[in-house]
Amino acid sequence: MSVLHRPEVRDTALCVVSIAGAFRKGKSFFMNCLLKYCMNKGSPDWLGQGEQLQPIGGFVWRAGMERETTGISIWSEPFLFTKSTGEKVAVILMDTQGTFDLETSAQESTFIFALTLLASSVTVYNLMNQIQEDDLMNLQTFSSYGVLAQENSQGTRSFQKLMFLVRDWSHPTDHAYGHKGGQVVLEKVLNVKEEQEPAHQRLRQGLRQSFEELECYLMPHIGLSASRNPNFKGHLEQLDPLFVEHLKLLVPRLLAPENLVVKRSCVTLGKPATADELVELFRTFIKFFND
Ligand code: GDP
Ligand code: MG
Repeated sequence: MSVLHRPEVRDTALCVVSIAGAFRKGKSFFMNCLLKYCMNKGSPDWLGQGEQLQPIGGFVWRAGMERETTGISIWSEPFLFTKSTGEKVAVILMDTQGTFDLETSAQESTFIFALTLLASSVTVYNLMNQIQEDDLMNLQTFSSYGVLAQENSQGTRSFQKLMFLVRDWSHPTDHAYGHKGGQVVLEKVLNVKEEQEPAHQRLRQGLRQSFEELECYLMPHIGLSASRNPNFKGHLEQLDPLFVEHLKLLVPRLLAPENLVVKRSCVTLGKPATADELVELFRTFIKFFND
């Protein structure tokens, strides 16, 4: 957690962006894209183009990551951005291991996901093809565990922003790729209808109440030369151009200075969370889990 002890993050508002979801669904690849945006300070050319094609490769992530607990890695450097109001925000990037893979027990998955939700101001929930009832049920399990661990959630919503990121969206003719299509799909999925079973209705109401902001983005397929090539190193030219186009729209939705969501304190209501508070959260949670 040394990133949280760095002088740059003392007394600076934090934006903690994390990703969670099943194993081998391109989460780390996407975090590398966020990392690249941060490293290039959000310049219009952040992804590189023409002659400057660079690999987005996972090696970058591995080179600078610190493994914190089972399954959570935090990038070792904070990235400072300044909003047009002059407010400085330090972005912290967090990658997680897949939930429900073969090596991770259900309890461990719940732990990883719940801690991720508690520690982040923005959590990307990475899904494949579409949003399924199972995905909603898992999210409910993770978030209710997080709510239990967090004692003082009265009056405020427990978690800040959640983005459903649907990879390889399977119905682009029904709903177009991107943010707008995503919002329509999400509204449909979360809509409470009389004919639904009571449990399904409660699930939807609970999710809406737990998060301050729910968003959805429908991504096109990454391209077969990337997904089928065992030597894929993240070169831009191997990606489907439509995927690249959407990457350029999606990443600034999360990381452009104006869009950064400041992590709110759970201790002092109405104030930004401090780095010390997050360190404490990790400590308590790990203790809580081990007991
Ligand atoms: P993680 O386990 O979720 O972190 O997945 P990785 O980022 O390590 O990626 C696993 C594999 O999925 C790699 O071979 C990637 O090339 C591939 N991949 C990355 N993004 C996508 C995507 O959007 N769609 C598909 N189908 N594959 C992807
Ligand atoms: Mg990964």
